[in-house]
Formats: sequence, structure tokens, C-alpha cells
Amino acid sequence: LIVVDGVEKSFGDFRALHAIDLTVHSGEVVVVIGPSGSGKSTLCRCINRLETIDAGQITIDGRQLPEEGRALARLRAEVGMVFQAFNLFAHKTALENVTLGPTKVRGTPRNAAERRGRELLDRVGVGAKAGSYPAELSGGQQQRVAIARALAMDPKVILFDEPTSALDPEYIAEVLDVMAELARDGMTMVVVTHEMGFARRAADRVVFMADGGILEEGAPADFFDSPRTQRARDFLARVL
Ligand code: ATP
Ligand code: MG
Repeated sequence: LIVVDGVEKSFGDFRALHAIDLTVHSGEVVVVIGPSGSGKSTLCRCINRLETIDAGQITIDGRQLPEEGRALARLRAEVGMVFQAFNLFAHKTALENVTLGPTKVRGTPRNAAERRGRELLDRVGVGAKAGSYPAELSGGQQQRVAIARALAMDPKVILFDEPTSALDPEYIAEVLDVMAELARDGMTMVVVTHEMGFARRAADRVVFMADGGILEEGAPADFFDSPRTQRARDFLARVL
């Protein structure tokens, strides 16, 4: 579904990504881990073209990423993104946050968008909060609304960039549970996280990044129980 082929990305003289090759199949859950600054967010941002790339190519469903314009807007609609936190529209209710994309980008009639929006809020366990503004929600509830908002666009894949790392500890599990359920339902997901329990439990494949490159990838059990590189062993020793 997503093919990243020889992708390089520099910021000035600093090479944030070098020669990244990564394939994500339909229905697969790929968890990306690695030390701070290793390029995990940059990779996500390149996949949905929040960043341009300097070399290589990225295709989604066999199509190259368009540079701009309507084609890019369409593609963005197919690639959902859930960020660290606080990315809801503050002056809109939970339901309005979820229906905005479908009504504005897709032209879905308001009634249909609201019906679906309520279903999705129910699905992530915040149906009772449809009329609440983000400031009236806990961090975990906000993040679940953000997931519902991504789902509302019927994306082919959702990219999660540390969706729980800005949350108070008591809210982390409820967000991870929603993500694990999506994974079980067959959603294609790329998840950057420091939650190793989630990686072990929900990932089909773990990708370990360091210094802008992919050092290892494999099944979670293989990676966690017998990492092949010293970098990965050092990293796991610190986080586990
Ligand atoms: P973290 O776990 O802390 O989120 P990360 O793996 O997501 O780290 P990135 O945010 O992808 O790391 O950053 C990779 C490197 O690229 C870092 O050294 C960072 O300083 C650099 N970088 C990222 N974005 C920019 C930018 N817009 N301008 C300059 N340098 C950047
Ligand atoms: Mg990051």
C-alpha cells in the first residue's frame, strides 16, 4: 500500500533521513521505534507530504505523491494522521471536528456526516461528548476524537506520531486500546510510539530507526527478544 523507496531528506546540511526503504502492506500495523531525533516524525511527514523529499520516491496505492493542489488534497484524505496531541480545532465541538473534513473536502451532506460522526465517536468511546469543546475534554478523550476525525475520511492508512506521549499516564491505555481495536479491525497503520507493550501486542512488524536510517525490522517477538544490532540492544535496555 505504501512503498518508500530510497528516500532521503535533509534540513540544510543535516541529513535527517538517508536511503529509507519501507513497504507497508494493506492491513498491516507497522510500529516505528527509535531514539529521539532518529527521523521517525520526519518519515511520517514525508509520507503525507508535510515535508518534501530530496531523493527517492514514495507511492501510495501505486501512485506517486502529487506535489500540490487538488491531487494532494485527495491523497491527504486517504492518509489519516494523528499527532502527539492538541491538534483539534479548539473552537469546534468534538462532532464538528469529526464532520469538518467529510463536509468540506468530500462534500458529504451534513446529515450523513453527522450520523457517521456520531457512530465514530461512539466507536472510540466518546459518543457522550459529541457537543463538548476540546478544552472540556481530557487529553485521552481529545486524542480519541482525533482518531475518530481521521477515521471519518475513510483513510487507507492512518499515521500515528506518538499519539500518547503528551498524555497523562492514566489516559494512555484508553487511547492504545482504541488503536489496538482498529488494528484488529484491519486498518493499515504506521505507529510511532515509545509504548513497547503496544508494539509487542499490536504490531505485525517493528521498524527500528537510528540516525535517519532503518537499522532493523522484523516481527515484534524477534525484535524484542533478540535484537541484532548493538544500537537496538542499547535502546531497548533504556526503554524496557
Ligand atoms: P522524537 O522521538 O524526539 O520525536 P524523531 O525520531 O521524530 O524524534 P525527527 O523529528 O524526525 O525525529 O527529527 C529528525 C532530525 O531532524 C532531528 O535531528 C531534528 O532536529 C531534525 N529536524 C526535524 N525537522 C526539522 C526542521 N524542520 N528543520 C531542521 N531540522 C529538523
Ligand atoms: Mg518525533
